[in-house]
Amino acid sequence: MAKKTTTSKASSKTTTKTATKESLPRDGAKEPRKLPKGESFEERKERFQKIFKALHKEYPDAKCALEFNNPYELVAATILSAQCTDKRVNMVMPDFRKAFPSAKALANAEPAEIEEVIKSTGFYRQKAKSLKSMASDIMEKFGGHVPDTMEELTTLRGVGRKTANVVLGDAFGKAEGIAVDTHVTRLSGRLGLTEHSEPEKIEQDLMKLAKPSQWTLTAHELILHGRNICIAQKPKCSQCAVAEYCPSAGMPGSI
Ligand code: SF4
Repeated sequence: MAKKTTTSKASSKTTTKTATKESLPRDGAKEPRKLPKGESFEERKERFQKIFKALHKEYPDAKCALEFNNPYELVAATILSAQCTDKRVNMVMPDFRKAFPSAKALANAEPAEIEEVIKSTGFYRQKAKSLKSMASDIMEKFGGHVPDTMEELTTLRGVGRKTANVVLGDAFGKAEGIAVDTHVTRLSGRLGLTEHSEPEKIEQDLMKLAKPSQWTLTAHELILHGRNICIAQKPKCSQCAVAEYCPSAGMPGSI
């Protein structure tokens, strides 16, 4: 399988929406999350499609930013990406791949060996434990193969619904849900697509708005837009391609 990279196209559109008067804190999960007043579910669905289309135009090559060659590597990379940048994980993966080329090698490794390789990704003791447990589960429960269903993947230690969504969508091409990370959490609130702040509930709301064929791409597009334009501290509303569909356009602190 080819290595994956993230690409994006810079936006230069102009904001047309009126600024909201409400002051929004900068922590994505804590921002007020309201659905636009008077908007029906069908209207929100239509608005979501416009947002999806505009973001797709903006990020035509949106893909998983983690580099991997097989499902096992993507599970490992996703565990390593907790509290760490994808860029850093990609820097560590060549050594990781060499040291632990399979679930069997990782399951048999000493925790100290794993820690040494992954140290620069932070929280390395906990991550080493999760990686070893995950690999042991793959060996013991699934004969050395990463399972390809949400139900089975989430039985692996260290693998939650978000990781499982990433692995299913990007390694197996099977979307069973939408991976909700900090960017998806923040943007779905600002865009008025959900009033919830819990990842599971955000995911359910987004799954109702997007078609199943759009689930994997929805996460990638929102993540790229969150990294490039709708950043936590200073959203660039004046350059945002979806400003005309966003109830938070021109929010306090935006530029
Ligand atoms: S940058 Fe974010 S808050 Fe601003 S208009 Fe775009 S999506 Fe909305």
